[in-house]
This record gives sequence, C-alpha cells and structure tokens, in this order.
Amino acid sequence: MLILNTKDEVKDKLKENPLQSAHLLRLNGYGSIKFNCACGEIHDTIDKDISCKGSSKPFKALLKCKNNFMTMIKIEGFFRKKAISEYGFEASIMD
Ligand SMILES: [Zn+2]
Repeated sequence: MLILNTKDEVKDKLKENPLQSAHLLRLNGYGSIKFNCACGEIHDTIDKDISCKGSSKPFKALLKCKNNFMTMIKIEGFFRKKAISEYGFEASIMD
C-alpha cells in the first residue's frame, strides 16, 4: 500500500479516482471484508469503528478507522470478496 504524506499527494490521488457519495457503493451489502489499514492494523469493513467517507469507481471505498487513518480499498472477487488496499494517509494531514 502506498502511504501518502502530504495534502497535495492526497489531492492528486483523488483526482485520479474522484470521490463519490459513500452510499453509491453500498459497502454493508458486501458483508465482512478484512482489509489492511494505513494505520498498520487489519480491520473489517463491517466493524462499527469503520466509517465509509466516500466511494469511487470501480468498487472502491475510502474508509476511516478509529485511529484516524484513511485507506482507499478496492473490492475484488465475486463469491468471495477481498479488499486490496491501494493507498492510505493520516486523516489529520487534510486539516
Ligand atoms: Zn486503521
């Protein structure tokens, strides 16, 4: 996973994959999917501490965890879903 360290790096990434409303992805409909978070832990998409801040095409979600890190995951697979973590950053760099 790529870790972004500056606001400009995050903005450039979001230009490549423009963010859309979180509800467009219906992440909860995918059930439990574990993902590697930018904070270094492994979380589950259905964990109540995980909030989806946006979606992107195709099947990408920007997730925020309780440690205040954001991770962009891509959901792959048909019967068995898995999440590929593409990049992440500490949410506070966007302040
Ligand atoms: Zn995390």
